[in-house]
Amino acid sequence: MRVSSYNEYLLLNDSDEESYLIYNSLSNGFGEIHKGLYNALIQKDMDYLEHCAEKEQLLQGQFLYVGPIKELDQMEEQFKIVRHQNETLNLTILPTFSCNFRCSYCFENLTSKSGKRAFSQKIQNEILTYIEKSVEELHFKRIIVNWTGGEPLLEFKNITSLMERINFIANKNKISIDHFMVSNGYLLTSDRAKKLKELGVKRIQITIDGSKKSHDQRRILANKEGTFDKIIENINKSCEFIHITIRTNVDLDNIHFMNEYIEYMGRQLFKDKVSIYFSATTEYSAGGCVSNSSCYANKDFSKVIIKLYECALEKGLNISYYPQYEPVACAAIAANSMVIQPDGGIQKCWNTVGNKNYLIGHISENFSIEQLNSNKWIDYSPYKFEKCRGCNVLPLCGGGCAQQAFESEEKQPVCREFKYNLEEMLAFNFRHQ
Ligand code: SF4
Ligand code: SF4
Repeated sequence: MRVSSYNEYLLLNDSDEESYLIYNSLSNGFGEIHKGLYNALIQKDMDYLEHCAEKEQLLQGQFLYVGPIKELDQMEEQFKIVRHQNETLNLTILPTFSCNFRCSYCFENLTSKSGKRAFSQKIQNEILTYIEKSVEELHFKRIIVNWTGGEPLLEFKNITSLMERINFIANKNKISIDHFMVSNGYLLTSDRAKKLKELGVKRIQITIDGSKKSHDQRRILANKEGTFDKIIENINKSCEFIHITIRTNVDLDNIHFMNEYIEYMGRQLFKDKVSIYFSATTEYSAGGCVSNSSCYANKDFSKVIIKLYECALEKGLNISYYPQYEPVACAAIAANSMVIQPDGGIQKCWNTVGNKNYLIGHISENFSIEQLNSNKWIDYSPYKFEKCRGCNVLPLCGGGCAQQAFESEEKQPVCREFKYNLEEMLAFNFRHQ
């Protein structure tokens, strides 16, 4: 029996009845323990632990574990299994590079010279052929399609027709199909929400950049008009029919508007029907945050985010800030996962869309599974880096964003916020359990 390397302890009460919060980032379980047990775990007093009354609970929560295989080796094994999964075909489809917004930080500037911006009928047919062929040959059990762009709702007719045809392939092969969408929300009507729901869209993510004042300075139409009111109206009407997640972009330029934004959202009747999360704004064309911009570095954001969630909970918003063990950080580094540009170009990562240096092929019958599943993304592993192998939050971070690592000067993983705010995050969850 061993003590897990992924236990975290937090002093809860320093009176005579000293108690500690214990959390395990592999099992994500947490509970309260007394001082005697805390000391035994810290000192790895196996004699005490073998005979303590809490032994079974500690084993269940993976605070203790048995077995000859070390946790790190088990995790690495799990990472390989999940990364090389062959049950799900995970597609991200960009029906268009075009957008009705002109956001300053968008990858629009990278893609503006990409020729025809919406996908042609030919590309749509090639996508279908590819799906059909790979489902038949590789016997997937599930298809996931993420629709993004550009703004996918600009191509509403084309995407709904393509969804119908993808659903037909899934039904014919008796496999499950789930659609998700990322949209700016401006063109989302209640009728469209209903239709998308009928076609199997499980969730739409809509981005808001803080209060009306800050959002309308940045997420603007081509004629520079603001978009906040229209998006709120659309969310209000559509959330009856489809689950909406609101991603709130946060950076040094709009942080001062966040209290106003949270208060505003707290007054909306739809607040119980949507979920909201906060995310650091990233500059897509820079492959993530750059120090001389208004983006937060992960370390600084780790402090800000807890205050935002605290405030959001106070106003009754539907939030969750309880990280989970993710064996593989994102689909870009997993097999059988691809991002299809409107011109048919294939990428592995959402952030590299429009960047020719990262293209791994083109959607066509000739695009092979080897091209998809043997490239630098599939070689990337946090387990190759000593700093990740020895990291207490590896189960939560998974080595972070591969794209940030590729673009970083040191070519090393860039630590995610949990590295810097684990204790505060635990205290937050304990306060609000
Ligand atoms: S590599 Fe990074 S940017 Fe690309 S999809 Fe994964 S998390 Fe997102
Ligand atoms: S990137 Fe940083 S936080 Fe993430 S696992 Fe590696 S060392 Fe830990």
